[in-house]
Amino acid sequence: MASGGAVTSGVSSGLGPGPGGLRVWWIAAGALLVAFGLALGFTVGGPKGVLYTDDLAQFGAALTAVLGTGWAAWRSTGRVRAAWSSVAAGAGLWASGQGVWCYYELIAHHATPFPSLADAGYLLFPVGAALGLWLLPTIHGHGSRGRWVLDGGIIVSSLVAVSWATSLGAVAQAGGDSRFAFAVSLAYPVGDILILSMAILALCRPQVERRELVLLSLAMVAMAIADSAFVYLNATGAYATGSLSDIGWVAAFLLLAIAGANAASRPFPAVKSAPEVAPDRPAASTMLPYLPLLCAAVILFGRRVQGHDLDAVEFVSVSVAFAMVLARQYLTVRDNRALLGVVAAREEQLHLQAFHDQLTGLANRALFINRAEHALDLHRRDLRPVSVLFCDLDDFKTVNDTLGHAAGDELLIRVAERLRGALRPGDTLARLGGDEFAVLLEDGDEPALVGARLVQALHDPFTLEDRVLTVRASVGLTQLLPEEQTPTVDDLLTQADIAMYAAKRAGKGQLACYDATMPRTSADDLSLRENLIEAIRYHRIQVAYQPIVEVGTGAIVGLEALARWTNSGDAVPPTRFIPIAQRAGMLGELTDHMLEQACSQLSAWSAQVGHDQLQVAVNVPPSAITDRMFPGTIAALLDRHRIDPAQLVLEITEEALLEDLPLAREITRLLHEIGVRLSLDDFGTGYSSLLHLQTVHLDSVKIDRDFTSKIDTDPTAERLLDGILVLAGHLGLNVIAEGIERQTQADVLQRLGCRLAQGYLYAPPAGQRQISDLLANTVRSPSQRQVNFGSSPARSTNWAATDMNSSQDMV
Ligand code: C2E
Ligand code: CA
Ligand code: CA
Repeated sequence: MASGGAVTSGVSSGLGPGPGGLRVWWIAAGALLVAFGLALGFTVGGPKGVLYTDDLAQFGAALTAVLGTGWAAWRSTGRVRAAWSSVAAGAGLWASGQGVWCYYELIAHHATPFPSLADAGYLLFPVGAALGLWLLPTIHGHGSRGRWVLDGGIIVSSLVAVSWATSLGAVAQAGGDSRFAFAVSLAYPVGDILILSMAILALCRPQVERRELVLLSLAMVAMAIADSAFVYLNATGAYATGSLSDIGWVAAFLLLAIAGANAASRPFPAVKSAPEVAPDRPAASTMLPYLPLLCAAVILFGRRVQGHDLDAVEFVSVSVAFAMVLARQYLTVRDNRALLGVVAAREEQLHLQAFHDQLTGLANRALFINRAEHALDLHRRDLRPVSVLFCDLDDFKTVNDTLGHAAGDELLIRVAERLRGALRPGDTLARLGGDEFAVLLEDGDEPALVGARLVQALHDPFTLEDRVLTVRASVGLTQLLPEEQTPTVDDLLTQADIAMYAAKRAGKGQLACYDATMPRTSADDLSLRENLIEAIRYHRIQVAYQPIVEVGTGAIVGLEALARWTNSGDAVPPTRFIPIAQRAGMLGELTDHMLEQACSQLSAWSAQVGHDQLQVAVNVPPSAITDRMFPGTIAALLDRHRIDPAQLVLEITEEALLEDLPLAREITRLLHEIGVRLSLDDFGTGYSSLLHLQTVHLDSVKIDRDFTSKIDTDPTAERLLDGILVLAGHLGLNVIAEGIERQTQADVLQRLGCRLAQGYLYAPPAGQRQISDLLANTVRSPSQRQVNFGSSPARSTNWAATDMNSSQDMV
């Protein structure tokens, strides 16, 4: 059932040193560096001792860097592997250069000529390092290419100014013994400008693994400082092995080694080759390109105070940098305006979509209710007649079950077309969900005739993929006469529904008009109703749990509790029994039962896994969110089970918010104060008002399966999802994509930076025992990263699902 994307192990093979091990490395590197500095500073062992210490320490440090970065390359994949390999190759070339140097000084016993083969090795390091930094994957971001180019330009021209003022200028003035020697000495500062620019640019881009990047950049800074000092001292004839500036090289390579070890110690794959989260660029990193410019300004100003005038190179490079800053500011303003436009357009698109059924293009329930309310207002005021027809296809489930959902969807589209054709332009036809349609008639013109036309419209069979299908509809009609008292929309729909069931009982495929003597529940419901009431009362409703996972790693962050009921051996789907329970007034009791079960199970699981970061989500109906007693019930429940409130997620639907928004806001505020998390379920189908995202204290939204089912085939759906992610990001909400069944859908989620998902691809709902087994068979990852499900950072648990498939019976 679950394919390649099933809950995966985030556990490494135990190769990584772990965070504790890394600390030891840091201490060792620091101690070595201090010892090295002291040996140079105090000329330990005399000039000869310093010569050996310095040459061999640099050689050793470079080799350590080769090992560290090579290890990271070995433990990663794809582009990340190429990046680390490139850095390792650069370090290796530097080490060979140092080997040559050591040969001259320690074996041949004479000063290393300049230029020599050693310089070839040293100078190739910046090439490898810069390539490595370029290859490190960035995260899907919204910044424009022009801005990156300008950032690069500002950095390079500022660094040229800095370098010219500190070393490059001196080198150029000193000239060289030969043109070649001159070119080689110029190549050092140029190489440094290259790696420093790459490091700063990389720090500006949102990166997958920031810590390694910072370490790499620090290494580049140390390298550049040591190089500049070398070039300057060399040009002025003051360089000798053992100069204190050599500490910079050793520090640079030790930092590289630690960066590599850090990457290699992550759970496998050591470094993800694909982006996982798309955070907003931190403000500090957008300002980074200005840092070199600031440095340049400070240095040039300092020199000015000392009496040096700006020379042509300094003047030109600083002017170019300033011009680019102006251009960049312009682009930033333009980009921001464009982004605002995009967000506004997406919001409008979502609003439009909010009132239409995506499959058939008909009005949806929200729009239907809206129009019906308006019609009832007119009835109240002007005694205008109103009629509602409720239309349910007969045996539609058989079509879905035998021909599949795609054929079912196609049929619904064709039925919608025929029904539309049987109506007049002013009539409102809506799809209320599944195979249910409703019609609102506001002119009082023979509604029974219209009902008969609807029945008649489906009389001719449909041809679907060479199959001839006959589909009938049972239609219920309720008429509100001018003199009658104005009912609510719900009352009107219930009456039409009762009439529709009467039509079904009378033999289907016909029209029935409501009268007050009709039984209030359908024949089907009646047979289930009593059993269901009993099952709820005697706690025979079972609970299945479906994992909610982190898309990038497959790590489980939470479990959604789903109600399961077996009536005389037959599993009745919750979509069927939940409405019956609601009509029977048993939904409150069912919710209490689910909450009780889920919480007691959660505390057992928390004890089992040894931490309290696992979350459980429970579906709560609208009636709970408008019940003043509900927050108290939740507080008592958490207390009884000693559960951290942040571990409980309540999934609410937008219907709850439509029912009584002020009260729902009040109750959700109280729940928020208690500390439980609130998630808006089924987002993207029904009302989907973005308003609700802002007015209620929510922590996350769950994007409905109807919506996610198309993200890998329909570019519009993908763009809309991207829009929702951007908006949710702005509102600080987490997004969980529901019903993910295919790897291609997961790929889209990953690309758009949607971190959390649920669906058969990862794991279907399973019984408590299977989930316990799953938890018991798993090993905790040594490194637990922070993830968010709900607003507060919760720890994800990387479960090594040893055999998820075998324990994945559908419940
Ligand atoms: P929901 O809250 O949207 O729950 C998700 C539904 O999607 C579940 O159906 C789950 O089994 C199904 N699902 C998960 N992944 C996939 C997938 O990859 N593909 C497909 N096709 N389906 C997937 P289920 O368990 O049949 O529940 C249906 C609905 O019944 C729920 O939708 C929820 O609205 C309601 N429900 C279930 N349990 C409860 C409950 O305890 N209380 C309340 N009030 N409602 C419940
Ligand atoms: Ca749900
Ligand atoms: Ca849902």
